[in-house]
Amino acid sequence: MSRLDGYAGKILHIDLTAGTWSLEPLDEEDARLYLGGAGLAAKILYSGMPRGADPLGPENLMVFATGPLTGTGAPGSGSIDLCFKSPLTGIWAESRSGSDFGGMLRKAGFDAVVVSGVSEKPVCLVVDGNEIALRPARDLAGRPVSERVRVLKNSIGADFETAVIGPAGENKVRYATVMFGDEGSRAAGRSGGGAVMGAKNLLALAVRGKASVPVADEDAFRETVKRVTKRLVDDPSNAVWAKEGTTGELARADKSGDWPTKNWAANSWGKGPELFDHFRKKNFIEARGCYTGCVLRCGRVAQVTEGPWKTPAHEGCEYETMSSFTSYLLNEDVDAAVHASRVCNEMGIDTISAGSVIAFAMDCFEQGLIDPSDNNGRTLEWGDMEGALDLLKRIVRREGLGDLLAEGSREAAKRIGGGAESLAVHVKGLEGPAHDPRSGKALGLSYGVGNTGMNHIHPIEGMAWDAGKADFGLLPYGLPDPAGIDRWDEPGKGEAVKILHDFGMLPDMLGTCKFYAYSGVTVDDMAEMMTALTGRTVTGKDLLKAGSRTYTLQRLFNVREGVTRADDMLPEKVLKQPAFGYYSEEPACVTKRYGEMLDEYYAARGWDCDGRPTGETLEFLGLGWTLKT
Ligand code: SF4
Repeated sequence: MSRLDGYAGKILHIDLTAGTWSLEPLDEEDARLYLGGAGLAAKILYSGMPRGADPLGPENLMVFATGPLTGTGAPGSGSIDLCFKSPLTGIWAESRSGSDFGGMLRKAGFDAVVVSGVSEKPVCLVVDGNEIALRPARDLAGRPVSERVRVLKNSIGADFETAVIGPAGENKVRYATVMFGDEGSRAAGRSGGGAVMGAKNLLALAVRGKASVPVADEDAFRETVKRVTKRLVDDPSNAVWAKEGTTGELARADKSGDWPTKNWAANSWGKGPELFDHFRKKNFIEARGCYTGCVLRCGRVAQVTEGPWKTPAHEGCEYETMSSFTSYLLNEDVDAAVHASRVCNEMGIDTISAGSVIAFAMDCFEQGLIDPSDNNGRTLEWGDMEGALDLLKRIVRREGLGDLLAEGSREAAKRIGGGAESLAVHVKGLEGPAHDPRSGKALGLSYGVGNTGMNHIHPIEGMAWDAGKADFGLLPYGLPDPAGIDRWDEPGKGEAVKILHDFGMLPDMLGTCKFYAYSGVTVDDMAEMMTALTGRTVTGKDLLKAGSRTYTLQRLFNVREGVTRADDMLPEKVLKQPAFGYYSEEPACVTKRYGEMLDEYYAARGWDCDGRPTGETLEFLGLGWTLKT
């Protein structure tokens, strides 16, 4: 096998039905066109899965994909992307996590692992360099996540990196997570990867290796990494990541109308600063990086020392989690939200979807669409955290109302009926994260056209551009200067959002953390690192085109599954005037000309008016091969 600089050079395929594995050399052309991570996975899933495959069946492919920068020491290079067909949305799914797992997988000699089939019995995939084994995993079943990691490492070695599912994954809760890290506290959270693994009877992966990935020009790569890292560290504004973490957003998002409150009845609450203050003084212990070498360290280690929500120190309590279990539910008890964060981690369930479906249930309760007879005899009032935690545990166990909510809010609303669908806040079935499009119109467009649905990772750079005035170093690539753009303007944003999406794909293709792009790593920095790493001349323009190629291929995957313009619409609740809070008297915050924005976006992408990429666009992007399949 010839050397491919920047890559381990192999893909590991596991067939769980047959209990066998095989190796595939990484195709050089695929590496050039799709780079890695979510790009490479898009090629694998589009080519390797039939239309209409059951997400919980043997045909679904679960791809663990690293990027060429994963584990290299490049800024933010502790990422892995999990891609699959989502059991929650039925379309393209992509879920990113940070840890040392991706870097270790490359040390073991693999850029990606592709899992197909279904095992008859619970198994764990152990990759120890060239030695690959499927081991019985009955001893992991039923345990909380941190205990699984402990049991697994005790039996195979503490120096393995692991990815495990929790009880929610085993019970096929459609938004179950895959958990990484020494304590299993880092989640690939969105879209239900844990349920796909649970359905496959694959309870864990463990990897260990000692090889190194070849670098074309080691000196140039080292120098570029050093220069970019120094620039990040020297920028005083980046100190906020370690100081406040993402949780600091509680105060800022509230003020700017970016904080969904009471199941999206409003976009602010006025309590963000005091909630963050409580967390900072009473719960926060220390900042932590999710992988070895992170210089930003947005991770939080937190605890509750006393009272009914007493909770041991654990890593979690990100902004999204804290919002899902405070403002979404109208809950002012921060200790209860910290406790819920820990329960979600240990059960392996997505905090955003979990908080969202509980908020949806509280809304249904208020509207009289469900009552105590549906909920084990309990009422479910806003802010009732005992009720919320009880329901969360029943979702994990799939009991009663919990079983219905384990299907996700779109499906639950359909079954409840009576107007419940207007209370379910999702796009394409994925529940909304804690950023509100009434804070800036580019965000709404990003949510609507999002390939995974209403996702905070992918790609919300539009929000940072029109509301946050960030340009990501993209002005030379045609991005309009955000200084001259009003956050609530509507038409005129489609072209800009397309460029931002192409850029937003790159961290997930290269294997880096997106927060580094928010902190100053530009597309030109990425191109310079890729040139030194691969020995090919890579430009910023090449990378943005690769981002566009991947975004379009993911869209094609969805079009093949039946996605049309009708699926790119926004949920009813975010198109209403906020019922209370800072913006209740501000009509400009509500989107009115969404259809025009969508038309502009489609035109900028080279998609037709129903959101289908045209043949000409596909040929231009090097995706002509999809026309023949
Ligand atoms: S900034 Fe946060 S998410 Fe990104 S690599 Fe560091 S700890 Fe992980």
